[in-house]
Amino acid sequence: MPKSTTNRLALRTRLRSRAAIATAGVCASAVLATAGVATAASASAAPSATHTATSTSETVRSQAGTQADAASGANERVKARSWMPPVTADYTLTAPFAASSDLWSATHSGQDFAVPSGTTVRAVHGGTVVKAGAWGAGDGSAYGNAIVIQHDSGTYSQYAHLSRVEVSVGEKVTTGERIARSGNTGNSTGPHLHFEIRTSPDYGTAVDPVKFLRSQHVTV
Ligand SMILES: [Zn+2]
Repeated sequence: MPKSTTNRLALRTRLRSRAAIATAGVCASAVLATAGVATAASASAAPSATHTATSTSETVRSQAGTQADAASGANERVKARSWMPPVTADYTLTAPFAASSDLWSATHSGQDFAVPSGTTVRAVHGGTVVKAGAWGAGDGSAYGNAIVIQHDSGTYSQYAHLSRVEVSVGEKVTTGERIARSGNTGNSTGPHLHFEIRTSPDYGTAVDPVKFLRSQHVTV
């Protein structure tokens, strides 16, 4: 087998064992009773256009963009930053997507990032906040405080067990913007961020978030 392939396999094995040994802080009930979700979802639907971009800030932003584009390699860097992980502080990947456990009623609907409570949680991509608040922002009590952001191309990201929600429904966020502090709310065995990528704003449409981020050239 060629040397490069061997190295790649070795790296993959190391990453896998790192994930396997870290068991602290996972969702105790990652998949939730769906009863009541539809009615609760409307509770957070009140639009609150708290951030209306002024023409001045738009101008500043577009000037900054022009300068950045002029710099050598800037386009590549901007593209590379198009998506990012939900936490930039040190984290350990714990319960992966689709894992099963006696703790859960079905398979795990997201990826857990073990981090201390209070860790900055960032939007993985620009978009609009469509859900924010307690009771999983309408998706169920097991999620604790949660946020859902709508991105382009029909993709949604979800962040759960938060100690503090720092955005509200209708707010526009940019890639990497701080949206919350991580926590241990809802059904959780310890401080961590539960993160989902969904194809709709609602529970039950999740896809593997790590695979998704890696397909967007994000190192997770
Ligand atoms: Zn989880």
